[in-house]
Amino acid sequence: MNEIERFKEEVLKNYPRLNVNSTFHFECRPGISCFNACCGDVNIFLTPYDIVRLKNRLGITSQEFLDKYSLSPFDKNLKYPVVLLKMNDDERKTCPFVADRGCTVYEDRPWACRMFPLGMASPSEREGDDDGQFYFLLQEKICQGLNEKKEWTVGKWLDDQGITEYNRMGEPFKELTLHRFFRSGKEMSPQKMEMFHMVCYNTDKFRDFLFKTSFFDKFDVDNATQAAIKDDDVELLNFGYKWLRFALMGEPTMKVKDQAAQAAREKLAAKVPPQKQQ
Ligand code: SF4
Ligand code: SF4
Repeated sequence: MNEIERFKEEVLKNYPRLNVNSTFHFECRPGISCFNACCGDVNIFLTPYDIVRLKNRLGITSQEFLDKYSLSPFDKNLKYPVVLLKMNDDERKTCPFVADRGCTVYEDRPWACRMFPLGMASPSEREGDDDGQFYFLLQEKICQGLNEKKEWTVGKWLDDQGITEYNRMGEPFKELTLHRFFRSGKEMSPQKMEMFHMVCYNTDKFRDFLFKTSFFDKFDVDNATQAAIKDDDVELLNFGYKWLRFALMGEPTMKVKDQAAQAAREKLAAKVPPQKQQ
């Protein structure tokens, strides 16, 4: 069991479960004694949508973002690639985006930063099954904001922090990671891991993969969709999830052009040795 799985087990067993109407006390503001203390030495997993928002905010490509600001930890227990925000190499391991005045990418800060001090968990690991999903309060001793008087409901907090929108954008990725392919214990080859990483996290490279190869000669993708994914990173991500479901999980989410299907059949037939006559 890795660190994440251990924490999840602890949450499921011991943390009080909150729903959208549950209340908690919290306020984070400049001047509080712990201001900025939580923006360092922390594991922040980045979702595909987090990366799109951050790289566009910074005006850099997804490759530049990944090179400069991310870590992709290798763990043989990981079912699919994950990306972490890389902390600075200083004594406090500060976040690269923190300054004296607070978060410099505040409007585009990652999902995990928006959620704090809340976490979200679900006992089910099934795609499309949110039954039993609940929120919980992260009991960080360092956080003085938890001792403040301001009261929130969970629902109000989610709206106030823009989390509802992030959850909506992140839903197709969450569904993908809960796919039965992963639950059944199937493993991706290193090439498939690379494909997953590119599609989900390196969107600009994925766009080149689509538009600078013969992809659209092989797959039937209408002009409106092609135009949308050329210009819009969110459309591109959503197209990418469909592509992964086709390429990795064998779902009929893409239509192969007749000519390409025929060429593939001929290629396959050429590889299969002829059957011996009885
Ligand atoms: S992204 Fe912003 S809120 Fe998140 S850890 Fe960094 S400075 Fe803090
Ligand atoms: S530790 Fe809590 S109160 Fe202090 S800056 Fe971080 S979120 Fe705000």
